[in-house]
Amino acid sequence: MPGPRHIAVIGGGPAGAFAAAELAAGGCAVTLLDEKLAWEKPCGGGLTPKTLARYPFLGQNGRPKKIVRKAVLRAANGSTVQLAFPDPFLIYSRYELNSLMLERAAHAGCELVRDHVAGIERTAAGWRLRGRGREYTADFLVIAAGVRASFAGPIGPQQPGDLGCAVGYYLPRTQDHLEVHFLRRLHGYFWIFPRTDHVSIGLCGKYLAEPAARMRQRLERYMEERGISRAGAEFYAHLLPALAPGSSWSRSCAGEGWAAVGDAAGLVDPITGEGIYYALRSAEELAACCLEGCPQQYPARLRAACGMELELAARLAERFYHDTFLGGRICTRMVQFARYSPLFYRLVLDLFAGRQPYGGLKERVFSGLNTGLREIAVSMLRGSRLTTDEHG
Ligand SMILES: Cc1cc2nc3c(=O)[nH]c(=O)nc-3n(C[C@H](O)[C@H](O)[C@H](O)COP(=O)(O)OP(=O)(O)OC[C@H]3O[C@@H](n4cnc5c(N)ncnc54)[C@H](O)[C@@H]3O)c2cc1C
Repeated sequence: MPGPRHIAVIGGGPAGAFAAAELAAGGCAVTLLDEKLAWEKPCGGGLTPKTLARYPFLGQNGRPKKIVRKAVLRAANGSTVQLAFPDPFLIYSRYELNSLMLERAAHAGCELVRDHVAGIERTAAGWRLRGRGREYTADFLVIAAGVRASFAGPIGPQQPGDLGCAVGYYLPRTQDHLEVHFLRRLHGYFWIFPRTDHVSIGLCGKYLAEPAARMRQRLERYMEERGISRAGAEFYAHLLPALAPGSSWSRSCAGEGWAAVGDAAGLVDPITGEGIYYALRSAEELAACCLEGCPQQYPARLRAACGMELELAARLAERFYHDTFLGGRICTRMVQFARYSPLFYRLVLDLFAGRQPYGGLKERVFSGLNTGLREIAVSMLRGSRLTTDEHG
């Protein structure tokens, strides 16, 4: 069955650029519109081993990127654990990552246009898009315009309860390991992601829980406490999808003649904030459906590929950041257990790398609990101590 032939993609981030490359390589006529083309989108730019295993071209190219083999996790009570990754993470500046992705799309035959899409209209033949002084037509529309599309189209705005907020600084300094710190009363975390010639530092949380201005204050206070100077730093802030428990992204990911991918479809892990993998995964599924002539199958295939996992993550996020286990917050216990038990250490490594899906996590935790607690008890007998974090 023939699929759509002339496709317009709105947005040239990882989701739109990857969908465009796959569709153009499959023989479709593709026009990608982005108001900035490659740009430094506020983002950590971190790629997990799971992402690199599925999309090896992200590791195999001449673009500058930081190879990261170590991380420090810090709980709100000050406990820390150092992780040594068997397979590295890569951290890109988003300008470099977007340039790489757009270059691949152009190489596959996609037309790249720098334009802002201000309006979308349905026509008898498909779609008409209004740019700055120019119009574009297509018979299928891929919406990849990120978390907040600035045009009225078939996709409605994401609900505030399904959004997260991140604030941060690019700092002119370097380090080799990445850091994730859990803070008291924060549904999110503080991070330091090293890049080739600077670090990206930030704080993410739920959009409705704390206004961005308060998050910025909290970030600056925390940086001061940790002795991190803001001299020469450049501030950034951005929204990201963060599905609430019980919400379903699939409500708004596709319709007659259109489909949304990446952040536009709400596809970000609500616990970790990882979105680039899901941007690529959704683009891959959509392109395959279109090329096989069955775009209507996209929501079901996306759900099987990663949607169910994200819905489960949404249910777990609340518990991870706020519930307690043996007298401490679960995120604190995770750090402490990984520090004192080799079994939990391996589990946290796999979670970080994306090799331990949330489905199956509970079973792995409970099947290893006896051994893990025995390992922790042995560590404590040797003088280490588990402390509580006052449920902060
Ligand atoms: C602070 C922060 C840190 C993050 N860190 C990480 C991380 O380390 N690792 C990770 O995996 N994920 C991270 N994420 C999530 C990640 O940034 C997103 O999930 C990812 O960029 C989604 O890609 P996308 O292509 O769907 O959207 P985007 O990358 O947002 O791309 C959307 C594109 O659409 C264009 N556009 C928008 N409106 C229009 C219009 N009207 N006309 C034309 N063009 C338009 C924009 O210019 C943009 O280029 C982070 C997010 C934030 C906010």
